[in-house]
Amino acid sequence: MNSFNEFGLAEPILRSLSEEFYITPTPIQAQTIPLVLALRDVVGIAQTGTGKTAAFALPLLNLLAKSRVPPQPKCCRVLVLSPTRELSGQILDSFRNYGRHLRVRSALAIGGVPMGRQVRALAGGVDVLVATPGRLLDLMQNNAVRLDRIEAFVLDEADRMLDMGFIHDIRKIIARLPARRQTLMFSATMPKVISQLAEQMLKDPVRVAVTPVASTAERIAQRVIHVDRNAKAGMLAELLRTERIDRALVFTRTKHGADKVVRTLAKSGLPAEAIHGNKSQNQRQRVLANFREGRVRILIATDIAARGIDVEGISHVINFDLPNIPESYVHRIGRTARAGAEGVAISLCSHDERPFLRDIEKLIGMAIPSVGQESLQVPQPAQQRHGQNRRQQRKANGKRGFRDKQRHKDNSHRHQTNQHREQPQHGSDRHSEQTRTPRHDFADVAFMRSR
Ligand code: AMP
Repeated sequence: MNSFNEFGLAEPILRSLSEEFYITPTPIQAQTIPLVLALRDVVGIAQTGTGKTAAFALPLLNLLAKSRVPPQPKCCRVLVLSPTRELSGQILDSFRNYGRHLRVRSALAIGGVPMGRQVRALAGGVDVLVATPGRLLDLMQNNAVRLDRIEAFVLDEADRMLDMGFIHDIRKIIARLPARRQTLMFSATMPKVISQLAEQMLKDPVRVAVTPVASTAERIAQRVIHVDRNAKAGMLAELLRTERIDRALVFTRTKHGADKVVRTLAKSGLPAEAIHGNKSQNQRQRVLANFREGRVRILIATDIAARGIDVEGISHVINFDLPNIPESYVHRIGRTARAGAEGVAISLCSHDERPFLRDIEKLIGMAIPSVGQESLQVPQPAQQRHGQNRRQQRKANGKRGFRDKQRHKDNSHRHQTNQHREQPQHGSDRHSEQTRTPRHDFADVAFMRSR
């Protein structure tokens, strides 16, 4: 499946996908969506970042849209269980996002916030309930929710549920579900307990798997250049001149910033085009076609606009600004090194962006090798070497072999726990709507590559 149009999804869903710039289904979506639409039970072996949320949310929304029966009081038609309040919030956001042109009632049942609001939200019944196991059990004990009318049940991140000691809670919840239901289970790995659970819980399931997404990052040569904010434009121009660039995708944090970069590059004789949310659909398509067909080599984009960019042969991703959401970094660099190719990801980091860099390095579990700007021979303003001590600079100017070695060494720690995920404190977990951020793993990189 190369396009979402081929699944036969309802028009309002397709409309929100195109607004989100989703063009090509990810492999887990291509495999799962038709099965869910055909009402099959599915076991999906997929990690976060592979697009698995949309893989179940889109067809379930479609099923809800097709049979518009109002939910019964205190009931839900679709129940999604996820291990953390953060992930639950993201899943709910996805349902609301993809279902924004449908009238879908949805609610979140997570710990750490008073139950009253959740009880009230459930009173009239909802179409979609996303819950963590502890809070759902609390609500069940308080007669605030009934599970006997559920049409579809999704157990997300089943192996993490096990790791976090939720397996008994899950069993209690499953015991209260109606026998006649559709069940989908997603897990990154399949320990024995989880495959046993799947046997008990699913009927004649179809198993879909996306290849584990190991070593993409190793094929991307990442580096960070510490540079004064005012020197960034000059540095970018220098890089674009000196690097062997086939196609470069340059990221800025704001739309205004993207336009500004286009103007400054034009002054340096480097033609570039920008793609962002203020451009009309026609303009975006024209710019993308120019980039895809090689008429323009440099594309400046914001994170949101870049989601829909499905262009092979991007040799360089350059972060003109570092993203303040560390997961966006993973998304960004995943635009290069596709289809087995090598890629280069360069980040220009000003002093005030150091905290963003630290967050990114924490998330990806490796230190990004740094290069001092002086090694690139760009004229520097006086106060340039913020925070870079001599040792760092020596290291930065050192032999490439060292940096490569360092990268290799650091990569071996890459699969550390995502430190941005909070562990739920069963029954009392906190959740803040404001602090929710999209969460991705290196898996993002892989699906982007494999599309
Ligand atoms: P997930 O694995 O569900 O956490 O999704 C990872 C990220 O990929 C989310 O930010 C989604 O918004 C994004 N995403 C999912 N499917 C697609 C797609 N087909 N095209 C572009 N972005 C996608």
